This record gives sequence, structure tokens and C-alpha cells, in this order.
Amino acid sequence: IRGDPRTFQIQFADQKQEFNKRPTKIGRRSLSRSISQSSTDSYSSAASYTDSSDDETSPRDKQQKNSKGNGDFCIKNIKQADFGRREIEIAEQEMPALMALRKRAQGEKPLAGAKVVGCTHITAQTAVLMETLSALGAQCRWAACNIYSTQNEVAAALAEGGFSVFAWKGESEDDFWWCIDRCVNVEGWQPNMILDDGGDLTHWIYKKYPSMFKKIKGIVEESVTGVHRLYQLSKAGKLCVPAMNVNDSVTKQKFDNLYCCRESILDGLKRTTDVMFGGKQVVVCGYGEVGKGCCAALKAMGSIVYVTEIDPICALQACMDGFRLVKLNEVIRQVDIVITCTGNKNVVVRENLDRMKNGCIVCNMGHSNTEIDVVSHPDHVVGRLLNLSCSTVPTFVLSITATTQALALIELYNAPEGRYKQDVYLLPKKMDEYVASLHLPTFDAHLTELTDEQAKYLGLNKNGPFKPNYYRYPAISVLCGFSFVLLVLVCLNVTVPVCVGKCANCKPTLMYTYYSIYCFLLQILNHLAHGKRRLEKLVQLLSPY
Ligand code: NAD
Repeated sequence: IRGDPRTFQIQFADQKQEFNKRPTKIGRRSLSRSISQSSTDSYSSAASYTDSSDDETSPRDKQQKNSKGNGDFCIKNIKQADFGRREIEIAEQEMPALMALRKRAQGEKPLAGAKVVGCTHITAQTAVLMETLSALGAQCRWAACNIYSTQNEVAAALAEGGFSVFAWKGESEDDFWWCIDRCVNVEGWQPNMILDDGGDLTHWIYKKYPSMFKKIKGIVEESVTGVHRLYQLSKAGKLCVPAMNVNDSVTKQKFDNLYCCRESILDGLKRTTDVMFGGKQVVVCGYGEVGKGCCAALKAMGSIVYVTEIDPICALQACMDGFRLVKLNEVIRQVDIVITCTGNKNVVVRENLDRMKNGCIVCNMGHSNTEIDVVSHPDHVVGRLLNLSCSTVPTFVLSITATTQALALIELYNAPEGRYKQDVYLLPKKMDEYVASLHLPTFDAHLTELTDEQAKYLGLNKNGPFKPNYYRYPAISVLCGFSFVLLVLVCLNVTVPVCVGKCANCKPTLMYTYYSIYCFLLQILNHLAHGKRRLEKLVQLLSPY
């Protein structure tokens, strides 16, 4: 953080080394495509361990062997393996579902014969996933999906454990593609499953080794960017294997956006600024899932929180959750912290930056660095994701994603011919529920089982799925907010042209319960206030449902 008359500058150690300044080795084969945004924008985990014996020699120029004489890997320093092993053991404690999966499926080996090539962040959590896949019978080769996020000591522990890992922290662009290539371009080994984060690995195979897809049974993709690329391929009729979209699974969405941000916003700000939150005035732009998480955390720390929103429903939710809804320019002079989480562009513009008080912290929690006008103020603001750039993501959140990835691999690998076509699929709801249930024992949580009578009454299978596929698990406040909006609309005689729970599929949902109670109250209110005409209007309003 640098002091400045108008704003502070956040400089991340890693970002000083911009891509175009990355070292390129003369004489090396150039793997030319420029690095994808996803390779720099997604999760970056804990700062990697460094040891005094680290030298500047590129790992590509070193002869490397583990203690068993195996040299099929390329990492920074194999001597860090013991430290990495300890980190993996700590991560295992917070990844109960993967550990449970190891125990439950170890005998069956549902991934026996699977040859998984992976391209994800190489962190302790990924190591737990890789070791789980291996315990379930898979062979793995792995590269990093982000040039900054590899934990060198974890890569060392994996290499020592016999995994073919090609990754180190601070790879050049050329290294990045070289590592991916080393994972797929192997004599006598051909992948039959892809686990990707960002789509770079999939892209590389499409571009360089398209014939490999003859043997590939499926792709599991976890990032927004990667999933977007897959949908584009599918639309163009070029997707030649089935793909699982893990990114949009309910459990991942909920935990990544709401709970993860609720935990990591404070951590990211503390680590970079040492700011005290109590009594500070904060404005959060956007009250979606991420915004709700940030607001909840800051409120709990005693900050005075303002919210900006464009959507009246989210705005109403913010009001009902006790936040002051403002326009940014109304509070910009007085706030100590500005946080953007809209996924939009130009939310904080030059004019706002110019009017802020000295020392105001400006940061972005949204996906891309377009939310804050960093271009007009390049020396003072860095717009990348705060929590992912400056702190760690809770292991428990990653456990949910990793378990979903493992199950998606098992499903695609074992699916009978014809179950999945050359298209992009969401994980079946039952699997989402299974992932959640594997995490419940951590909290000593006791799930209620439906009785036969109750299951029949609700029209559900006792073992799930318990919700329709489109159900998005809104927080209680969402339901209340929605009902309140309904109330306003009904009083204004506005017809609501959406299904709000009266069709057969919605019946069992909590939403329907809320809706029914509200409708009942509305009917009474309407009847009392406006007599028969209003009641008729209400009946007319509800009749399509
Ligand atoms: P969301 O769609 O639920 O919420 C975004 C909210 O911003 C919406 O309510 C929208 O009405 C509001 N908005 C849009 N433009 C606005 C503007 N100009 N001013 C004020 N409000 C505005 O999305 P979300 O799930 O909350 O995600 C938000 C962003 O955060 C996305 O870019 C997402 O990719 C990213 N994300 C970040 C993390 C992280 O760890 N930092 C995790 C998940 C998602």
C-alpha cells in the first residue's frame, strides 16, 4: 500500500512482474498463444514456501529425480517435499468429503483405468483431490492453470509421491504451455479424462492433438471462463465429447460466492492494509451473492455499511437486511472503503476516485478488473479480485468443489454409452445433494429423514432429489424480499407474469410455503382494505398458477 494524496495503491508482489516482462528463454520452442485471462484471474492460494536453497535456475533446466529415482515431473525444488506433505495433511482435515470418498470407494476403484490429465491450481487442496483420484484407481498427470498460484512445496510433495506434476510458481508464458504439453505429449500414455480449470488444457488438446479426443470420455470444467468456452464449442458443433459444468453446480455457486466471500473479504483487506473494520464506513457496490457475503462480514465487524444496487429486488433485500441503500456519489466523500462486486464495468469511475477522501481503500471482489476504472488511474488502483489475489480461499469451500469434480469424473468415466452426448451437462441434483451430505458430519449435523407418509405427501423420493433442478436455494431474506415485492405489486394492481410456486414442481419447496402464507395474508388484507373488487383482482392474478 502506498500513500497518495487521494487514494492508496495496492501492489501485489506478484503483479509487479507483468506478463509482458516475463522472462522468455532464448532458443526455446515458443508455444505461442497468449496466456488466457483465466490463468491469472482465478484462485491463487497461499504464498508459496521459499527456502534459501531456491535458485534462479529454471526448473526446465534442472535434472530432477525423486527419492525413488523417478524423474517424470518438473517442479521448483524436490527438497521442499516434507513441508508440502505437512500442508497436504492439514488440508485433508478440512476436506472431509474427499476423505470419506476415499474410504467408501477405495474398494470398488471406480476410476480404475482412468488416465486423468489435469490443469488446475496446484495447491494443498488440489493435492488432496489428486491423491483421492489415485486412491480410486486413476493415473494422473497435472499442470498448473495459473502461473502464480502453484505452491512449490506441494508440487514437490506430489512429485515425491510419484505424481507427474509440471508446475512451479512464477512460470513464464512459455513455461505455462510447455508444462501443459508435457502432461499430454507423452509416449505410451494417453489421457482418457480431462479435468480443467479455465479451458486452457482443453484448448491445447483441441489445437495440437485433436485425435486424442477419440479416446477421451469426457471433460470436467470448473471455471466460468472454461465453461463459457465449452458452451461456445458445443454451439459451434465442435464439442466432440461430453463435458460436465462443475462451475454452475448449486453447491459450488453458493459456497464460492456467498460463504467464501463472507470469509475472505476481511482476510484479503487485513493482509494488504491492516485496516481496522470497527466503525469504518464501507460502501459495497452490488448486493448479489458476493455483495451479501461482504456486507454480512463487515457488519459483523462493526463497520457502517452502505450498499449500491441497480436491481430493485436486491436493493430491497439490502434494506431489509439493515443496510442503507445509496448512490455511490452520495457517500463517496465520506467512506473509508469501497468494494465492488457487481460483475459489471465502470462501477467506480475516475470522477469517484477523484472525490474520495485521502486513504480510501478501493478494491474489487468481482470476476474481472473492469469494475474500477484502473485505466484512467493506473498508478493508484489495482482492480483484480481482492480475496483471490491477496488471501487464501477457505479449504472447506475448495473441498466442495473438489468433491464435485471427483464425482463428475466418476460419473462421466462410468456412464454407459449414450447417457451423455457431445454436450455440456450440469451435475445431477442428487449428486449436489450427495456432496453436501458428505460435508455434514463435520458439523455433527443430524439430517432429518422423510417418513414414507411425508415423502408421499410431498411427492418426493425419500432419498432425494429433494428440490427441482431449477431451485436456486435462496436465503430466507430473498424469499421475504420477494414476497414483499409481491405484496407491493398486488397492492398496485400489477400482474406478476412468473411462476411463483403454484405449479406441481414447486410445491414441495420452502418458497411455496412462504408464498402460500403471504398469499393468505394478502387475501385477508386485500379483502379488508379494498373489498370485493380487489379480491377478484387477486383471484385473477393467482389463477394461472
Ligand atoms: P450477482 O449477479 O448475484 O450480483 C451482482 C449484483 O450487482 C446484482 O444484484 C446486480 O444487480 C448488481 N449490479 C450490477 N451492476 C451494478 C452497478 N452498476 N451498481 C450497483 N450494483 C450493480 O453476482 P455474484 O454472484 O454476486 O457475483 C458478482 C461478481 O463476483 C461476479 O463477477 C462473479 O464472477 C464474482 N465472484 C467473485 C468471487 C470471489 O471469490 N471474489 C466468487 C464468486 C464470484
